[in-house]
Amino acid sequence: MATTVKALTIQQCSVQGCNHPADYKVFLADHNRNYGGDGNFYEQDISCPWLCEKHQVENEAGRKFYGKTGEYPYSKWGVNWSRVSGWTEYERLPPRNPD
Ligand SMILES: [Zn+2]
Repeated sequence: MATTVKALTIQQCSVQGCNHPADYKVFLADHNRNYGGDGNFYEQDISCPWLCEKHQVENEAGRKFYGKTGEYPYSKWGVNWSRVSGWTEYERLPPRNPD
């Protein structure tokens, strides 16, 4: 059996049980000044750093907003969220080369 060594590390979707490669990098965004700095917070979501296409669509479809705070099925610590303020944004990863 041949072993393929890939030059680039392919990130996997962060949803439990999903073994698809990630299509999106997931960010937690907020304008809450409690985070300090200039009041803008934009960092990779440590609870769900990567999503595949399917789970990104599900994440957006299942989104609920409470004021400016979003609750999501997967990102932002999921439905059992810890009341973290802000919302989720995505950056689409460059297309993967077909193997
Ligand atoms: Zn997935």
